[in-house]
Amino acid sequence: MKAVAVFPGKAGSIHLADLPEPAVDDVPNGRGVLVDVLRVGVDGTDKEINDAEYGAAPEGYDMLITGHESFGRVLEVGPNVRAIERGDYVVATVRRPGSSIYDCIGTYDMTTDETYYERGINLRHGYLTERYVDDPEYIVRVPDALKEVGVLLEPTSVVEKGIEQAYEIQRRLKVWRPARAAVVGAGTLGLLATLALRLRGLDVTTFARTGPPTLNSELVEALGARYVSTRKMPLKEAAEEYGPFDIIFEATGVSSVAFQSMEALGKNGVLVLTGISGGDRKVEVPGDRIMLGFVLGNKVAVGSVNANRTYFERGVQDMALAEAEYPGWLGRLLTHPVDGLENYEEMIRLLTEEKGAIKVYVEINGHA
Ligand code: BGC
Ligand code: ZN
Repeated sequence: MKAVAVFPGKAGSIHLADLPEPAVDDVPNGRGVLVDVLRVGVDGTDKEINDAEYGAAPEGYDMLITGHESFGRVLEVGPNVRAIERGDYVVATVRRPGSSIYDCIGTYDMTTDETYYERGINLRHGYLTERYVDDPEYIVRVPDALKEVGVLLEPTSVVEKGIEQAYEIQRRLKVWRPARAAVVGAGTLGLLATLALRLRGLDVTTFARTGPPTLNSELVEALGARYVSTRKMPLKEAAEEYGPFDIIFEATGVSSVAFQSMEALGKNGVLVLTGISGGDRKVEVPGDRIMLGFVLGNKVAVGSVNANRTYFERGVQDMALAEAEYPGWLGRLLTHPVDGLENYEEMIRLLTEEKGAIKVYVEINGHA
């Protein structure tokens, strides 16, 4: 069976690999779920893995099958699988548990272990292949009505976790009625965060460098949110105009932007950082001002990574709500399909060069 793989640590090593077929009894105790992969989305993490900035091969392998944003259809289930049936559309979670107490209660996204296991990213093979098998604990059912956009569930789960962390933290305030939100970054994550915050009734301002009109700015405005180019109006200035921001969702991975967001955050506000900054950039920041603002304003900044199955389930709910409130909006994010695993070069090219791309994804097993 075909798969797209890299040799971690070796830049530009993406290639087509051959893997043995998985079988339902590869998972013990009759709990296997064998899935036919239909679509896999790619993002900055995949690019960084191919650039050898990130990622590790599973034990016993020199290669890593990439791809962590999956969408597929169940081919076969083991005798002890209850909630999932052959023919169901499904998405698999990414991280697999380690041994910390958080891993033991199903919150592997909160692991304190040094080593973490992520399918398609770190120490576990991913989904850019024809079929995979896993335990139902890690497989989330997607209703048929969402099959055209189901490949967006993994990035949506990352957004759901970030927002839920913010609400959970803000219970400290006894009464928190967030009214205004800012989203920094208008790529897939920023757009999905804009959506999730609009669905919760907030007034949302979404920031990106590029000036409008772009597809991204149109998508922001289609949600009734405001699109602001930071070239025209920096974050801090915009906070005076459109804030105070009760919640800021950072989705750029640019560390200087994270510190600017700290300055733009309103009193009692919460800043959620989700961008992965793989580099080693140094930035100069107005440290005293930021610190004073945080202390005198009782502000919080929280980092949020990955998502466990509860956030995938929440993501399914929001995607269904999105189709009801903003029909067709999610599908407009799927800008760049790649036809088949063989076209991995094209996939990487779109991911690195195509500025207008929102979501690049691969169609597999003849799915179109
Ligand atoms: C993935 C997350 C993952 C993170 C860190 C992101 O691209 O979507 O699931 O936890 O990278 O590896
Ligand atoms: Zn990702």
